[in-house]
Amino acid sequence: MSVLNINAIRDDFPILHQQINGQPLVYLDNAATSQKPKQVIDAVSDFYQQDNANIHRGVHQLSQRATDAYEGARDKVRQFLNAASDKEIIFTRGATEAVNLVAQSFLRPKLQAGDEILISYLEHHANIVPWQMLCEQTGAKLNVIPMTQSGELDLSDLDNLLTSRTKMLAIGHVSNALGTINPVKAITAKARAKAIPVLIDGAQAVPHMAVDVTDIDCDFYVLSGHKMFAPTGIGALYGRETLLAAMPPYQGGGDMILSVSFEQTIYNELPYKFEAGTPHIAGAIGLGAAIEYMWSIGLDNIAAQEHHLLQLATDKIRALPGVEIIGTSANKAAVLSFMIEGVHPHDVGTIFDQDGVAIRTGHHCAQPVMAFYDIPATARASFAFYNNEAEVEALIRAILKTQELFS
Ligand SMILES: *Cc1c(COP(=O)(O)O)cnc(C)c1O
Repeated sequence: MSVLNINAIRDDFPILHQQINGQPLVYLDNAATSQKPKQVIDAVSDFYQQDNANIHRGVHQLSQRATDAYEGARDKVRQFLNAASDKEIIFTRGATEAVNLVAQSFLRPKLQAGDEILISYLEHHANIVPWQMLCEQTGAKLNVIPMTQSGELDLSDLDNLLTSRTKMLAIGHVSNALGTINPVKAITAKARAKAIPVLIDGAQAVPHMAVDVTDIDCDFYVLSGHKMFAPTGIGALYGRETLLAAMPPYQGGGDMILSVSFEQTIYNELPYKFEAGTPHIAGAIGLGAAIEYMWSIGLDNIAAQEHHLLQLATDKIRALPGVEIIGTSANKAAVLSFMIEGVHPHDVGTIFDQDGVAIRTGHHCAQPVMAFYDIPATARASFAFYNNEAEVEALIRAILKTQELFS
């Protein structure tokens, strides 16, 4: 079925080879955070063992090596997203910080009371709350693209939601709660035709598929390292160079300046203007290594393997009475939210854990989506390319066992 040698790939992930409660670990919580291959762990470890120094400005060997590795990682992120220039790639703490950067540095100076920000019903809290805070600060208004019962965006009224007062469209590429892949290129085109800037939250897209920001033609794109096999605490913001160049710094401090006196500070050029203080150097290097690793597997192979697992799990769950899949869009990434009739999702998670099956239960930082379906939570299995068919079987066994315990 698969062109990938999944067993060989699994050997790259040391954490997968352990027992939980006497059962092999079945890690199906990849949408919360992914596991790290030894290539990434080694890149981080090697940096600390061989090259650790602060970057930029240093004339000694270690500092130059650290700088080269850090800037090399930036260029990998640029290639990974097909951005035009390294100046367009800002390292951040994660997707959350990247959204906050755009909200505060790009949008806040432009907003007047009565202006509008358009998001969607499917957003992660990271792409809701920063805009809500901005609305509180400026008197702007938050509008929301509605969703359908199948968990897709309802775009029928998009033309009317993009008004003359809309100053930003911020939308997720892939829903972390339901897996829905949104048609971001078409949506971006509609907004840009009205000169409305577009930010895309790609935290759940980049682990699963090739992304091309030049093709999408968005203004900003945010990603999170730990969702794509890299360390926590590192992420990236892509921004169109002309926009980034005109934006004020987000935070002040070292490395983001060219010169400082008490009378005047001159800010550094892109991308350093937005990277105040010592960054997560090892994290950025780990992110670069994760990208290299994904390239070595092949982004198309990753997408194909995950699609296979999603399809298999979906078919098997559909065949089970008393289990409902939440989010049934035809175009989905490898996320499967479900409800077992008569069992609270939290109990589902606990019973699964007894057999070593790690899934997530809760609102998945997307409470509006839960509110839409009038449920407090779902159980969510999310796959990565290192998952296999035996793990799908373990998921199904865990569902059957849960049903039996509650029957
Ligand atoms: C995880 C996630 C975020 C937040 O990313 P962090 O890097 O953890 O801050 C934002 N959006 C989506 C869709 C996510 O899944």
